[in-house]
Amino acid sequence: MKYLKFNNNDKMPALGLGTWKSTKGEVYIAVRKAIEIGYRHFDCAFIYGNEHEIGQAIADAIKQDGIKREDLWITSKLWNNRHKKENVQAAIELTLHDLQVEYLDLYLIHWPVAHKYDVSYPQNGTDLVSLNEIPLTETWQGMIDLKTRGLTKHIGVSNFSIKKITQISEDTGVLPEVLQLEAHPFLQQKQILDFANERGIFLTAFCPLGSADRPASRISEGEPKLFENQTIINIATETGFFPAQIMLAWAVNRGTSVIPKSVNSQRLKQNLLAADIELSCDNIEKLDALDQHYRYIKGDFWCLDGSDYTLANLWDE
Ligand code: NAP
Repeated sequence: MKYLKFNNNDKMPALGLGTWKSTKGEVYIAVRKAIEIGYRHFDCAFIYGNEHEIGQAIADAIKQDGIKREDLWITSKLWNNRHKKENVQAAIELTLHDLQVEYLDLYLIHWPVAHKYDVSYPQNGTDLVSLNEIPLTETWQGMIDLKTRGLTKHIGVSNFSIKKITQISEDTGVLPEVLQLEAHPFLQQKQILDFANERGIFLTAFCPLGSADRPASRISEGEPKLFENQTIINIATETGFFPAQIMLAWAVNRGTSVIPKSVNSQRLKQNLLAADIELSCDNIEKLDALDQHYRYIKGDFWCLDGSDYTLANLWDE
């Protein structure tokens, strides 16, 4: 396994397990299996609604399998309705309680979008709160305080643009340590990757396999499918690996971490093995040529009439 090494020598395994959409009942088994076969990095979030079950799996693995807390890398994320500075600490404390751990390795602001306190998913514009009212810098200051208090070892952001990262870092003097964002051969995020590399920010790639199990409402008709791409299929055939492994190896080979979700024991194994595959320069070049700036998670669900969120000011592009 490759690792991304932080300034304080902490190491994040380059490949972790995604847990969005892993449902009650299946996620406990998947996390136990994952730990058994060697996963040490888990990507969680309060809004996934399964942290309690993941916490039980981790606690049982620590009790029964001789795993130590310090051998695990656990990430979670602050949901959009807890962006006010005074709400940030209570949010992480609930996550820590559910995950049955005393600290997180990484806590991220999930989206640069704020909701009203009692709104999990906005139905209309009035459920959202403008960033003029709760600026991202206020939320980021809350995150900085969590790190100071030892509730999380590292802090970062997710779905933030270069502009937003620059803004919160200039306002506070503290750079995010990790940016989690959608990245795969169809959305390579090269400009953000260069920006992050220059500043020592690590990228974590989500939806690395194209997120086929997204809710139907978030799937666009006729969208390009990574698993049907002939270049990926050809490289898999030529090298004797599975197409998913080629996509994951590409992510690790370019220096990002990557968090494929699976609840299937064969695919869990396949995905983990991908972290150690070295792709040839020729094959990396072929994969690099597949970029089409295609987002599976468009973020349009935040751009509701009556709010000031638009796709243009969400992605700043
Ligand atoms: P993904 O990992 O790209 O794809 C998951 C889908 O691929 C599932 O249907 C899974 O099915 C299938 N799959 C897994 N391994 C496979 C393999 N080897 N061969 C074929 N199919 C395979 O999508 P994702 O879950 O959307 O993204 C990964 C993780 O990133 C999430 O779970 C979450 O932790 C994180 N994420 C973060 C954000 C954010 O806003 N920060 C947004 C999206 C996702 P099975 O489970 O049946 O194997």
